[in-house]
Amino acid sequence: MIVKTIQQVKEQVENWRKDGLTVGLVPTMGYLHEGHKSLILRAAKECDKVVVSIFVNPIQFGPNEDLDKYPRDIYMDKEICKNAGADLIFAPEDIEMYPYGKPYTYIDVEKLSKGLCGAKRPGHFVGVCTVVAKLFNIVNANKAYFGQKDAQQLAIIKKMVEDLNFDVEIVSCPIIREKDGLALSSRNTYLSVEERKAALVLSRSLNKAKKALEAGEILASNIKNLIIEEINKEPLAKIDYVEIVDADNLQDMDKIDKEALIGLAVFIGKTRLIDNLVY
Ligand code: AMP
Repeated sequence: MIVKTIQQVKEQVENWRKDGLTVGLVPTMGYLHEGHKSLILRAAKECDKVVVSIFVNPIQFGPNEDLDKYPRDIYMDKEICKNAGADLIFAPEDIEMYPYGKPYTYIDVEKLSKGLCGAKRPGHFVGVCTVVAKLFNIVNANKAYFGQKDAQQLAIIKKMVEDLNFDVEIVSCPIIREKDGLALSSRNTYLSVEERKAALVLSRSLNKAKKALEAGEILASNIKNLIIEEINKEPLAKIDYVEIVDADNLQDMDKIDKEALIGLAVFIGKTRLIDNLVY
């Protein structure tokens, strides 16, 4: 079933929860792929009912970003949701979520949202946190499912839930990749055949980093250089950032002596792709 209003979702979830059923929420921007599907399948396994939200959130896009051309296909999305075991799709229009254009209230998980993607996409995580907080209040789920693909987003959402005492458990799900290593993303659809090949440089450079770490390298600067060197070999690739940070607090680290997030963003032609490795 697909609903467009906040009231419809609230009523449905309230009924489920009155019956003692647990509810899982999978927030997405649609154009669903196997990565999203893995989140829905996990939610269906762990919860009695699953709500998938599909909303291309305008307030998390910068002025020069791809809001207008972001891919959409609600028919395909419905099919994937059904096959993965979702019980309800919440697909609101912009006006339902933001009745007077921009909201008066924003949420900023300040300490975690300045680096990595936050440095390159000012205001992005404020937009993400604000919409996710709204979705948490609207859906009132027991658990919410997020992909490790967006590692900074996941860390920020976890902290927001802790700081603001949201009554929802955040479940992190592993990155789903194509057979050749490319992390699935709705934005992969922008890539030409040639760019699609070039995009493999993201996972390839992370694999190189992993091998070096496994061989005993612990200096972040050396790992970073290795990644940069590998990416620079690919003529269609332009590095947006390569960062190595503490996986918990996203602060820079010199030595990889505790769990690190190695995150990168790379333009392949005009398309900005992200990938990461937690080691
Ligand atoms: P999006 O529609 O891009 O906002 O993504 C919705 C959710 O799906 C987020 O929690 C993402 O981290 C997650 N996701 C997107 N791509 C993947 C992937 N390749 N593997 C796992 N999760 C993913």
